[in-house]
Amino acid sequence: MKIALQPSPVQEIRDDLLTEKNIRLFIKRDDLLHARISGNKIRKLKYNLLQAHSENHHTLLTFGGAYSNHIYAVAAAGEIYGFKTIGVIRGEPYPDLNPTLKFAISKGMYLHYISRSKYKNKYSAGSVSELKEMFGLFYMIPEGGTNSLALKGCTEIIDEIDISYDYITSCCGTGGTLGGIIAGLNGSQRAIGFPVLKGGAYLRKEIQDYIKKYKDKVYLNWHLVTDYHYGGYAKYSKELVEFINEFKRRQGIPLDPIYTGKMMSGLYDLIRKNEFRKGTRIVAVHTGGLQGIDGFNERFGNLIE
Ligand SMILES: *Cc1c(COP(=O)(O)O)cnc(C)c1O
Repeated sequence: MKIALQPSPVQEIRDDLLTEKNIRLFIKRDDLLHARISGNKIRKLKYNLLQAHSENHHTLLTFGGAYSNHIYAVAAAGEIYGFKTIGVIRGEPYPDLNPTLKFAISKGMYLHYISRSKYKNKYSAGSVSELKEMFGLFYMIPEGGTNSLALKGCTEIIDEIDISYDYITSCCGTGGTLGGIIAGLNGSQRAIGFPVLKGGAYLRKEIQDYIKKYKDKVYLNWHLVTDYHYGGYAKYSKELVEFINEFKRRQGIPLDPIYTGKMMSGLYDLIRKNEFRKGTRIVAVHTGGLQGIDGFNERFGNLIE
């Protein structure tokens, strides 16, 4: 099995604010990384799919919420790379499927719903053996796709960048992507993570642990900016929505309201507040997630253009 990813493009963002502050901002377009599996999710899946294949697995089982980009990506990857897929979904089934789950089913994913309380203990020995009884052998991918093989996949973001820069930024859900970026930097430059959940400071230790497990190293050249969650996961503000629509109009680059919009809006705010020295060069990673816009618009009323 072969998963050949072409390096995603790096584009410069041009904007009056950036000129005024004398900041060069580049965006690494991982949303364009793969025709059918966008963004960081295919990076995180790449070595997991190869591992599953080498262990002769035919079925992938993973976990996620009803709007999860990861569920979407695993369903698509299963169809492309020839695995059966099972999505263990948090919460009760809704009578009408949302766009994410509709897509997952169309790609052949079997959806298995579990209660929120059960979901909390999804990795316990009891829960896993229950799933094994139900579904037989499977290759298990954790929620959000984060494990050591996912970090390995994300180190390739760094390998692909051939311009010079001072900072690289990513939004964080589990922090696996940022962990891979930090591991890939291997001590050079500086990484900044923007948690999209409220109270994201707890991610510091989680990310450290992911890196330790993957590489047995501790890095200090990174930090989290926890102020740009806009109320929490899948929460938003009018300003965030306006920023995303405006950014697309001016730059021609779509951002999603759950992840990348929060990072870019936060980054602009930091630049506005002179948090970066003149002459600083920043690479912001566009981690994809654009499939989530449909579900967001369906829920909240076509806010994202
Ligand atoms: C899943 C996702 C993230 C979060 O990635 P982590 O590795 O869990 O931090 C960020 N951006 C987008 C677009 C995502 O879909």
